[in-house]
Amino acid sequence: MAINVKNDLLKKDEKYVWHAMKGCNENGASLLITEADGAWITDADGNKYLDGMSGLWCVNVGYGRQELAEAAYEQLKTMPYVPMSNTHEPAINLAEKLNEWLEDDYVIFFSNSGSEANETAFKIARQYHQQNGEGGRYKFISRYRAYHGNSMGALAATGQAQRKFRYEPLGQGFIHVSPPDVYRSPYSGSLEAIGQAYADEIDRAITWEFNETVAGVIMEPIITGGGVIVPPENYLPRVKEICERHGVLLIIDEVICGFGRTGKKFGHMNYGIKPDIVTMAKGLTSAYLPLSATAVKRGIFERFKETEDYNRFRHVNTFGGNPSACALALKNLEIMENERLIERSAELGEKLANEMAILKEHPNVGDIRSKGLLMGIELVENKQTKKPASLKVVNQVIASCKDKGLIISKNGDTVAGFNNIITLSPPLSMTDDDFAFLVKTLK
Ligand code: PLP
Repeated sequence: MAINVKNDLLKKDEKYVWHAMKGCNENGASLLITEADGAWITDADGNKYLDGMSGLWCVNVGYGRQELAEAAYEQLKTMPYVPMSNTHEPAINLAEKLNEWLEDDYVIFFSNSGSEANETAFKIARQYHQQNGEGGRYKFISRYRAYHGNSMGALAATGQAQRKFRYEPLGQGFIHVSPPDVYRSPYSGSLEAIGQAYADEIDRAITWEFNETVAGVIMEPIITGGGVIVPPENYLPRVKEICERHGVLLIIDEVICGFGRTGKKFGHMNYGIKPDIVTMAKGLTSAYLPLSATAVKRGIFERFKETEDYNRFRHVNTFGGNPSACALALKNLEIMENERLIERSAELGEKLANEMAILKEHPNVGDIRSKGLLMGIELVENKQTKKPASLKVVNQVIASCKDKGLIISKNGDTVAGFNNIITLSPPLSMTDDDFAFLVKTLK
């Protein structure tokens, strides 16, 4: 792009566009991205970067997929819009496909973003309990350091105070317990003992809140945005058992962990549990178009049918289940199946973990956590005390990766005083050469 055109655009950007987050440049300025193909993005100066974050953890099949553009285009020409009071073929086929991917019997409610998918889950859970004659159940348990979205309920479920404090009061009835962080844990003993102790916090929270007031527990299978916190293997199965014992619904947020990110179709499948409700977005369309879904176990849906007010879930959204977005999502899932991208994520993820293991010997690498193509590298100043690396150092690592052509990001808990976890979430479609470049650059 000509330099004067670029400068003009950036001036207008500064004047008119309100950015949600800081950009990739060292000073926080945004990169002007002009093209993207495969795992690579190109800026207005022609610099190419391997996108180690898949945008915002979302472009799972990589950029430049003509067949996705065509699926949306064809649908736009044939029939661009149907409100979901009526129905249409792409939504029906996608709901059936998602049911197949979930490997159980779920009914699908479509929305547009991960936040909305979670809001939808909260409302369904509350109404479900009301329709069961348990109207007192309105609270939700979630974890500190989790992120569940930007709207008033999803933000209330979020456990990152820095994102919340200016906007409170938020949705009522959200209670937080510890994230299952093994590296920085108040609990000791075997991994299993630590997993159990963390899960039992949920048991206690439900009991102390009075279980007849609790509607649900919401969690990601692996906390992503709070610093890639991979739980001990027994944690989720125990949480599920606790939820069942208390009659509380387990809502699993698969907005990032879904669609192959963790080496399985959905993150919870690593732990052999069946959630009551599954929320998903991002990788559903690989972020080519906005679409999200709330998958609800048939038994819960049936309760809505049994009432006189058949199916009266009072939750309208104009754009949810947009035909082009659904047609594109179907094609996106087809690509994942045809190219075996779930398996690829598992294989490359294992290779990545092996390649990176050597970094554990580095004096400033405290912990490396991963599952599939999702990784967090926790940087510390001192390995013994685990004092987190300063933001300055973390930013230097990110900047030097960028200088070498690799985009990575960081996470943590600003309020608790650390933002020291390097995050990685590259496209599952990375080539072997891309993978080698990523490993070499990171090392
Ligand atoms: N849930 C998780 C785990 C997320 O990471 C996000 C967004 O990053 C959301 C929900 C909210 O999704 P959206 O930004 O599409 O509203």
